[in-house]
Amino acid sequence: DTCPLPFRRVLLKLSGEGLMGVQGYGIDLDVVQRLAGEIRHVHETGVQLCVVIGGGNIFRGLSKAARGMDRTSADYMGMLATVMNALAVQNFLEKAGVPTRVQSAIPMASVCEPYIRRRAVRHMEKGRVVIFAAGTGNPFFTTDTAAALRAVEMNCDALLKATQVDGVYDADPKLVPDASRYETLTFGDVLRQDLRVMDTSAIALARDNGIPILVFSLQQPGALADVLRGAGRYTMIR
Ligand code: UDP
Repeated sequence: DTCPLPFRRVLLKLSGEGLMGVQGYGIDLDVVQRLAGEIRHVHETGVQLCVVIGGGNIFRGLSKAARGMDRTSADYMGMLATVMNALAVQNFLEKAGVPTRVQSAIPMASVCEPYIRRRAVRHMEKGRVVIFAAGTGNPFFTTDTAAALRAVEMNCDALLKATQVDGVYDADPKLVPDASRYETLTFGDVLRQDLRVMDTSAIALARDNGIPILVFSLQQPGALADVLRGAGRYTMIR
């Protein structure tokens, strides 16, 4: 197996749900602080990092809460939710001593930088963690697709998708106790078997541009650093 480790530059996709902890809604700052520590740990090793943050812990365009709204307006609300999450993560990263920049796909000049590809690359070269907010900036997309898009644009060596479980299983491990975890999968496997890892457009974008996706869980301390060393538990899709 020609595993492309070690990585020089990676994109980390954090879902909004990953920031909400045990509560059913919003941002759990203790969780954000812990995640910031995980990111700092990796940042210290010299790996260039950027982050795409979801917003599902606050608002989703397709959720019940949005019923009765135009899809486009609801999606803009979802994108704005990701900006709140981005500011929370930025705050705790900077408290942990990690220099950061937030770039939003929807320009918001008094809050953060607008998304400018070349500038984002420069920030990473200077050792700053770039946090991408507002998804792709377009309704009808998800932050998973934004993660794949930014990973391609930033020339990342891998897309690290943090989920609630430590990889892709052949059945839901929370419901089926003897479900087994895949070590590796091809993009074709994921699409053919309709394994719901990320949405189809994200998978297709990663496949077409040769960016491996590593699915792992951030529950265990040190998990992010482990995955980047090729240790720990994860599923590699390539
Ligand atoms: N969204 C969007 N375009 C994008 C990214 C996100 O319209 O490019 C909206 C969409 O309504 C989505 C919400 O923002 O439901 C929050 O993003 P997502 O559901 O991907 O967050 P996650 O599941 O990662 O928490």
